[in-house]
Amino acid sequence: MSMISDNLASVKAQIHSACVEFARTPRDVQLLAVSKTFPAQAVREAYAAGQRAFGENYIQEGAEKTLALADLPDLEWHMIGPIQSNKTRLVAEHFHWVHSVDRLKIAQRLSEQRPDTLPHLQVCLQVNVDGGANKSGCLPSEALAMAQEIAQLPRLQLRGLMVIPEPAPDFVAACTAFMPARELFISIKQKINGVDTLSMGMSADLRAAVKEGSTMVRVGTAIFGARV
Ligand SMILES: *Cc1c(COP(=O)(O)O)cnc(C)c1O
Repeated sequence: MSMISDNLASVKAQIHSACVEFARTPRDVQLLAVSKTFPAQAVREAYAAGQRAFGENYIQEGAEKTLALADLPDLEWHMIGPIQSNKTRLVAEHFHWVHSVDRLKIAQRLSEQRPDTLPHLQVCLQVNVDGGANKSGCLPSEALAMAQEIAQLPRLQLRGLMVIPEPAPDFVAACTAFMPARELFISIKQKINGVDTLSMGMSADLRAAVKEGSTMVRVGTAIFGARV
């Protein structure tokens, strides 16, 4: 077995044991393999081990990887990095999901530019849950209104929220950081049809994220190794 397939098995085991520990249903927590900075060959290895959903941070790099891997059926590409408005077309044409929509203008452009030949673009609204002034994400107080507007756009399907709190020093602190996201997600899910996704948790804090209700963990380092 390759290192990547061993790592994938170990991450899946971690997710599974967190689900058992915190009374979550394992199939309710999806694994997004974050392949940013790693070559297409690394994605092929993960694919051979059964992984289908991959996350990319940089639009140009991600779009190129989708083309280089177009021969693999059933791949699902997620954009999780910042989106400049002059790059929305690449995202609308090459990705299945976007987690990092943080303003209405970006959502409107993605909807206008989503080709009719493709299914709706699946979208999460990124929320800046810990309020850092120069971080991406809308304010928690703006999230419901913005989610309602995004849900009206014709070529998008609003699926939920993404959060990236500051790295926490330990499990308890990570849980505390994730808690507001959990509450916001529950309240938006009750108000908007089709919302089912809380994109939350990475290699270092996935156990806390599962405890606090994540439905999709985004894991890079623990699968592909350290990035240079
Ligand atoms: C890089 C990245 C990840 C993966 O982080 P790891 O610590 O390598 O697991 C998850 N989410 C986002 C938004 C990222 O940019």
